[in-house]
Amino acid sequence: MGGGLSTFAHSGDYDYSSTASQARVIRHVYTNARKVCLSFDDMWSEYYTWKIARDFHRLNIPLTIFPIGRAVDNNNARPHQGYENMYARLRDMGHEFGCHLYTHRDIKEFSLQQLIDEELEPSLKVMRRALGANFKPIGIRPPYGVLTDALKELSVKYDIPLILWGLDSQDSICTSKCQDNCPDASVATDVIYSSLWDGDPDDAACVRSTCDERCADTIMKNYESYMRPGTIILHHGLKASHLAIRRIVAFLRDWNLQPVRLTELLTHG
Ligand SMILES: [Zn+2]
Repeated sequence: MGGGLSTFAHSGDYDYSSTASQARVIRHVYTNARKVCLSFDDMWSEYYTWKIARDFHRLNIPLTIFPIGRAVDNNNARPHQGYENMYARLRDMGHEFGCHLYTHRDIKEFSLQQLIDEELEPSLKVMRRALGANFKPIGIRPPYGVLTDALKELSVKYDIPLILWGLDSQDSICTSKCQDNCPDASVATDVIYSSLWDGDPDDAACVRSTCDERCADTIMKNYESYMRPGTIILHHGLKASHLAIRRIVAFLRDWNLQPVRLTELLTHG
């Protein structure tokens, strides 16, 4: 458990790459148990974060959520009416949280110290404010799935595993393509990804519902192609994934797969 910490204490003489090689990187849980994990990233929009988490909760399905630190900070400091203390309320529904770093930049060139100062510590600070001083993320999921030695070093130092995914629902890729079809794509992008927005994006920039429905088809196609026991499924806090909830639940029921939190899935590996 704490082995990485003692290695790190001698930071003058440790072998950087060998310490990085100790990091736990999880893309899939190898198990025969018919369990999978629904994970949701980013959560820029309080509106869709709440809708998705609440609707799954009503179906008794717990999620593993990786919010961006900035989104948590916005909710702590400037929540829209009705979304106050949203993260604590999501936790009380039974959802659990990992860390998706603070700014959602590509961290390819980041040093370990930069990752600590600009990404992880600011995220931990806002998540502890939202979820309590003892909060510890169940994992770190780097934006875009970028893995570097510095990130692995960070994972060992903080004793937090790196969590990727085995099935990309492609809700984000598909939503970006929907943006391109909007008459004013930049406005639409601001609306969809801004945590300062608390309404239905359809009301604002352009009518996207047909496109979002097609995204739900894309999501289900990816489920059919890549699902198996132990799969960690990647979604985002987007309308397309919200629209797909009923179909996701029906699919998992048909395939006799139970969605569980990642911490539970890991106990079956
Ligand atoms: Zn992300």
